[in-house]
Amino acid sequence: MKITSFEATTLNIPEDDPLANMPEEEGRTRPVVILRLRTDNGIEGIGLTFYGGKMTGSLRKAVDELAELTIGEDPMRIEHITRKLRLAAGDSAGPGGIFMLAISAIDIALWDIKGKALDQPLWKLLGGHRDRVPTYASGSLRRGLTDNQAQRAAQILVQKGFTEMKTQMALPGNPTVAEEVRRVRVVREAIGPDIKLMCDINQRWRPEQAIDIGSRIADVGLFWLEDVTAHDDYAGLARVTAALSTPIAGGEYVWGIVPFRHMIEARSVDIVMVDIVRVGGVTQWMKVAGMAEAFNLPIVSHVMPEILVHVVAAAPNGLTVEYMPWMLALYEETPAIENGMLVLPNKPGLGLKFDEKAVAAFRAG
Ligand SMILES: [Mg+2]
Repeated sequence: MKITSFEATTLNIPEDDPLANMPEEEGRTRPVVILRLRTDNGIEGIGLTFYGGKMTGSLRKAVDELAELTIGEDPMRIEHITRKLRLAAGDSAGPGGIFMLAISAIDIALWDIKGKALDQPLWKLLGGHRDRVPTYASGSLRRGLTDNQAQRAAQILVQKGFTEMKTQMALPGNPTVAEEVRRVRVVREAIGPDIKLMCDINQRWRPEQAIDIGSRIADVGLFWLEDVTAHDDYAGLARVTAALSTPIAGGEYVWGIVPFRHMIEARSVDIVMVDIVRVGGVTQWMKVAGMAEAFNLPIVSHVMPEILVHVVAAAPNGLTVEYMPWMLALYEETPAIENGMLVLPNKPGLGLKFDEKAVAAFRAG
């Protein structure tokens, strides 16, 4: 089998909130580059990438330039292909940033091809540890909402059957410690004691602030506190992790696999979170999962549940899947949620098909 052609397309996907219908701002869109990689036996693998922001044109160009280098290659030899791309561009234009975002789209598409060629769903190819995994609602309980909106949104998520959900602190403006503490208590009150509640800080606190506020809310029983300070302040994170009884999650902001070594060795986090397009795709995501397992740490996903459900289900230390609905509208069908668990698909590869009507509607320019 050989790769014969590819097609990359830039889309603008609405940033709405399909889970609780509580968008922070109406009409915002998120730019995404989707990739179709085609082979001489008729298999088409799909991949995608984003975080290009105003540089999404450059990201799209990078995907085109790297995908061009895969033509004629055997798609089953994924490490061989990505090594070729690294030698061609990554050694000078990488290892992070646009290069890594682009190579990740290709790696994801190659795994989709491999699954389709072997007629196996990705999660089974990667280890097949479980056929359903816990998931948590994300993206609804954001810091920009009022207390009332956050409470209503939380109740809607519970009514929809979610048993885990994530909110945010580090409120906008210049909140007092009391205001920060009040927000997370208000959300906890709305959902009761039995729902697992995570809280994301998105790097907005100082380590000492994280220890102060984190210790005041120990009784809220958070499942984790996420990205409490700058993602690469491994020593600062380790200080917070050692000081608090609440587990600390982090890792979505780092590039490639090597920073995870330093983060884990420094005991900076209790729960390792890996973003698939910043780490280098499916191949590299699974390597970090193995690294975390050796250190007795659970691993969790970041966004795109329709793809990440495969890797979390494959890994024995996979904890839960972030159900962030950003890209769901792109596909004809995405994995179902039953009793708060995502059900793994049995279709080959990613088990996803682009909804061509949606792709046409979101097409940029
Ligand atoms: Mg986060």
